[in-house]
Amino acid sequence: MTTPLRQAVRIVASSLVVAAALGAQQKPLTPHQLLARDIYKELVEINTSVRTGNITPAANAMARRFRDAGFPARDIFVGGPTEKKHNVVLRYRGRGGPGAPKPVLLLAHLDVVEALKTDWSDDLDPFKFTERDGFYYGRGTADDKAMASLFVAAAIRLKQEGYVPQRDIIIALTADEEGGDYNGVDWLLKNHRTLVDAAWVINEGGGGALRDGKPLLQSVQAAEKVYADFTLRVTNAGGHSSVPRADNAIYQLAEGLVKLSKFQFPVELNPVSRAFFEQTARGEKPEMAAAMTALVRNPADVGAAEVIARDPRYNSMMRTTCVATLLKGGHAPNALPQLAEANVNCRMVPTAAKTSVQATLVNVLNDSAIAVFDTTTEDRASPPSEMRPEVIGAVEKLTREMFGDIPVVPTMSTGATDSRYFRALGIPAFGVSGLFSDPTVDARAHGRDERVRIEWYFKAQEFLYQLTRLLSSSVPVP
Ligand SMILES: [Zn+2]
Repeated sequence: MTTPLRQAVRIVASSLVVAAALGAQQKPLTPHQLLARDIYKELVEINTSVRTGNITPAANAMARRFRDAGFPARDIFVGGPTEKKHNVVLRYRGRGGPGAPKPVLLLAHLDVVEALKTDWSDDLDPFKFTERDGFYYGRGTADDKAMASLFVAAAIRLKQEGYVPQRDIIIALTADEEGGDYNGVDWLLKNHRTLVDAAWVINEGGGGALRDGKPLLQSVQAAEKVYADFTLRVTNAGGHSSVPRADNAIYQLAEGLVKLSKFQFPVELNPVSRAFFEQTARGEKPEMAAAMTALVRNPADVGAAEVIARDPRYNSMMRTTCVATLLKGGHAPNALPQLAEANVNCRMVPTAAKTSVQATLVNVLNDSAIAVFDTTTEDRASPPSEMRPEVIGAVEKLTREMFGDIPVVPTMSTGATDSRYFRALGIPAFGVSGLFSDPTVDARAHGRDERVRIEWYFKAQEFLYQLTRLLSSSVPVP
């Protein structure tokens, strides 16, 4: 039954909701927010796709922003190995002098994964920065042009405020993180090491998770798994398929792959993954939480590992994984196969040795007919970064102040970021952004209709600005 009073209450209530929504949307942006959005838009609308785009115009545009803000030309470097793959590096000078602490490096990549307009929603274009229903849409809005734009905006804001840091702040915006041939970080470290040498690096790879619109946790990426490929190969004399013989390359390979599919590498934790499970247990359901706590106490606890392994993401955090990804075999429908081959892609925990992973594969296949070759094209060790208290402490302090009492969770990425180049040289690197998203609906990096929540873009702006201040004014670190 609907009474006039109830109806009235409902009308008032719904108009309040509308007013609140409008109020949130229409709240005017501050000049700093407008600047960040303007830089963000400029970056998203330059097509920096790894293969079909061009990174250099984006590097030049950011260099121009730095010059216009008053940074001297000698502190702005633009360069790269080829015409379309330039990087830009700014040095924001601190007090300097003898004994000055090493710089803090803010790193973001300018390139993006390819995107086709036809793959996106009709009203969106991957290279047109679009604001809709509380989100910014466009290729790179999440990966990694939010951080790139916020670092540039932070440098300009600090400069306007006359801020002089204790240590230099370096901002490096680089090419080909998404798999091109001219990785900017690799190139800078090999050709201009002094430009990017730092005490610590802040990069992508971390961020906040929202649940029901509220902050759940803030993650700090401090380690990542190491990539390796192995080819499994069976050869055979072959022959006419009308006269099958007992040994068959396809069957032998298939049997080996079935064995592999049932195998799990042993649990191998490091300080980062141990801390990850400790912190994640705090927000997990009772059974999973208990299993995580038990595993941290005793990594040999098989029962606990079984419970955790039910979640593929958690499973890949606690052990090396190897999985078949490509298959080929045979040469004609009417011939016995002379060759059968599979690619097995491994993501090794950072402490694993590739030779021992290879030996494990040979053991598991347990068939001398299956040869196992290491076909990894690029080797890169990536030891976990030590959880430096100056950095983690700053992240924890800001997280508490801005987002409430939520855990700061160290994580190990199962994929790779450019942090590995620094970690391989012993320079600690941390993935942290203060950019919160809901993994159930916003995980669209590399995919269709990539987006970032407007409200959280600007919260991340404040977070990264404050973090830059804290990290560049902290006490010297040897
Ligand atoms: Zn990225």
